[in-house]
Amino acid sequence: MDCLIVGGGLIGMLCARGLMREGAVVTLVDKGVVGREASWAGGGILSPLYPWRYESAVSALACWSQQRYPELARQLQVETGVDPELEHSGLLILDQDESADALQWASKNDVVMEQLTGEAVPACEPGMAPEWLSALWMPEVAQVRNPRLLQALRLSLLQQKTSITEHIRITRLIVEKNRVIGVETTAGRMMADKIILAAGAWSGALVPGLQHRIEPVQGQMIAFRTPPGLLSRIVLNEGYYVIPRRDGLVLAGSTVEHRGFDKRTTTQALTQLQVEARRMIPALADYRVEYHWAGLRPASPTGVPYIGEHPQIRGLFVNTGHFRNGVVTGLASARLLSDMVVGRDPIVIPEPYAILE
Ligand SMILES: Cc1cc2nc3c(=O)[nH]c(=O)nc-3n(C[C@H](O)[C@H](O)[C@H](O)COP(=O)(O)OP(=O)(O)OC[C@H]3O[C@@H](n4cnc5c(N)ncnc54)[C@H](O)[C@@H]3O)c2cc1C
Repeated sequence: MDCLIVGGGLIGMLCARGLMREGAVVTLVDKGVVGREASWAGGGILSPLYPWRYESAVSALACWSQQRYPELARQLQVETGVDPELEHSGLLILDQDESADALQWASKNDVVMEQLTGEAVPACEPGMAPEWLSALWMPEVAQVRNPRLLQALRLSLLQQKTSITEHIRITRLIVEKNRVIGVETTAGRMMADKIILAAGAWSGALVPGLQHRIEPVQGQMIAFRTPPGLLSRIVLNEGYYVIPRRDGLVLAGSTVEHRGFDKRTTTQALTQLQVEARRMIPALADYRVEYHWAGLRPASPTGVPYIGEHPQIRGLFVNTGHFRNGVVTGLASARLLSDMVVGRDPIVIPEPYAILE
């Protein structure tokens, strides 16, 4: 079976890895360099922020992935020598006025979550500002370092003879008698038995029915250079978070901006991100911002991704629209996609992810 994957972000690369393991001959095509768009820009938190606010279809993918990310990270390190730096940093949520809903969700989904009060809060993360005396604590939440995860995936795919073609844009699907048979690209036609569309925020342009359903939503982030150990937990407050990396880099994110395909960073966002990060961790005021970047999240209307075969075009599969949770849900969504492509029992009920006509 020949599979052509449109888009080499995390979703496209995880699909490629899954399909290769099913014996498919996989070609991955990207308009730029693989792994340099939203997947590279993301924070790598392996949990939705405020997970109780999402539909159960998102929780189902997140829970499946969370259990398997440590093994993926281990395998990739063995295969490639690149460590994706998976760390169980835990997630400390400071704005916890929905704690009843949150604790109920956690108990229903078998997720460890505790309510911390008083001294237990600074004991959990000593770098926090003293005014925070109440929080929700999710000790099992992990993070990965996205650029390293993507680099490892790319190397592993190349080692396993996946063809990766960069700087070629897919411009159109070639459909005959309601079946996709290939794609037009900026370098000519490419034919395949199955086409998998994983083009992130750009997916809407290529697939009938998705045009107005995938919106690019910009997210800006910054990174402070600090000594390792300044911070050890992921801390979240009012949608803003800080993430400590092993080497001392502390990421602070993220904005949510509806600006079309504009990826430019702004001084306004820089200031806002610094202010919010320092509200949580005052010591960050002493360290310089080393990086500032933006990425375009592929947003579906409900945050539930579209995964599955197109209802009118046989052989065309879609895996897109993961919005803010493409890293944590990506592993499961790639597995669900390959279940559908090879006709195996799906890991989760597939209906919530269907592309409706
Ligand atoms: C600031 C920020 C923070 C985030 N933090 C987190 C987090 O902590 N945890 C989490 O789970 N998620 C997070 N996310 C969300 C997550 O990063 C995305 O949901 C996920 O990366 C989407 O992956 P993707 O492969 O669909 O898209 P992308 O990574 O954007 O990949 C799509 C690829 O398709 C290619 N492409 C597009 N059109 C074409 C075409 N016509 N022809 C060929 N190639 C094409 C692009 O060049 C690109 O490489 C964050 C996102 C951002 C922006």
